[in-house]
Amino acid sequence: MGLRKLDLTVLNKRPERAQLYTSDSRIRGVRVGPLMIGGGAPVVVQSMCSTDTRDVKTTLAQIHRLVEAGCELVRVAVPDELASAALPDIVKEAGVPIVADIHFHYKRALESIEAGVAKVRLNPGNIGSRDRVKAVVDAAGAARIPIRIGVNSGSMPDDILVRDGYIVTADGMVEAALREVEMLEREGFRDIIVSMKATETKVMVEANRLFRKQSDIPLHLGITEAGLEGYGTIKSSIGIGSLLLDGIGETIRVSLTAEPEEEIKVCWWILESTGVRRRSAELVACPTCGRIEIDLFELTAEVEKLLKGIDLPIKVAVMGCVVNGPGESRDADIGVVGGKGKGLILRKGEIVHTVAEDQLLPMFKLELDKLVLERREEEELAEA
Ligand code: SF4
Repeated sequence: MGLRKLDLTVLNKRPERAQLYTSDSRIRGVRVGPLMIGGGAPVVVQSMCSTDTRDVKTTLAQIHRLVEAGCELVRVAVPDELASAALPDIVKEAGVPIVADIHFHYKRALESIEAGVAKVRLNPGNIGSRDRVKAVVDAAGAARIPIRIGVNSGSMPDDILVRDGYIVTADGMVEAALREVEMLEREGFRDIIVSMKATETKVMVEANRLFRKQSDIPLHLGITEAGLEGYGTIKSSIGIGSLLLDGIGETIRVSLTAEPEEEIKVCWWILESTGVRRRSAELVACPTCGRIEIDLFELTAEVEKLLKGIDLPIKVAVMGCVVNGPGESRDADIGVVGGKGKGLILRKGEIVHTVAEDQLLPMFKLELDKLVLERREEEELAEA
């Protein structure tokens, strides 16, 4: 089906290509299938299927679309025995590590681990007696898979909520998370990832900052119920982005009321715009002003088309006038600047070509091809 499988092992090994910035190496490293979360590894992009897990064909089709979009870890809901029975086929064909999402039923966790999932998401406080927690912990330990504890502002423990006057606070979320952590650690289990997701951006950010001060457990970031694409993207970007800029967060998920593939697009925009990871060329363009000397919207759209499929961390600038364009594109690897009747092609702010307007795009393409070739050769040399 033309599925481009991500080589996740390579991804973790090639920071110069896959990312510009690694997560904090002081954070506990937790292995999830071929991926490492924390321990200085690249921040991992994940999402969750919206399909019925019992419908293997539809679920796999969605997983494959997610992988194609750049998702590295996919969670599926496991609400009943039929769902866990579908997992072996899903795990086998997914092409990406699968996380089982469990609520309340410890047997679903055991079945999921047996089915070969790479991680389980559950809260030990929800699955009953200590014996049940121990059974899950023993099975996860034997299978060498981690457990993600997920504290959510919509399902806080009653006693914390009552104490805090029915307001979800950052302190309350951290306390809830640490309680769950304690339940796993007292059984000797340490392969833990924690998430504290709130609908309030400030609460989510503060909770994660507080938690990071108290624990080396890797954090999965997300704003829950962020909403539709537009507003949800902004809200998630501010919440997740603020933390990533502080060096907090080892894996992320954007939760939108949209197709999960859209979530992946936003995850990558967040990673790229914070400089945490880059998987493609970055296009910067001037906002235009009264000095504009060219149809910049059209030129930018054409340049964007040329950048499709370039999986190198290069910065490309498109500027609208020769007065300020060269200066404003100085830190770009390659720039194209429009002018009256003629324009410029630049490399790191240095003019390499001055051409007639109708030759601007073809000449830019030639120079871009040259740059890509140079970068690929540099990569090959570095890998040799
Ligand atoms: S590059 Fe020129 S046209 Fe674009 S915003 Fe700057 S001054 Fe205006």
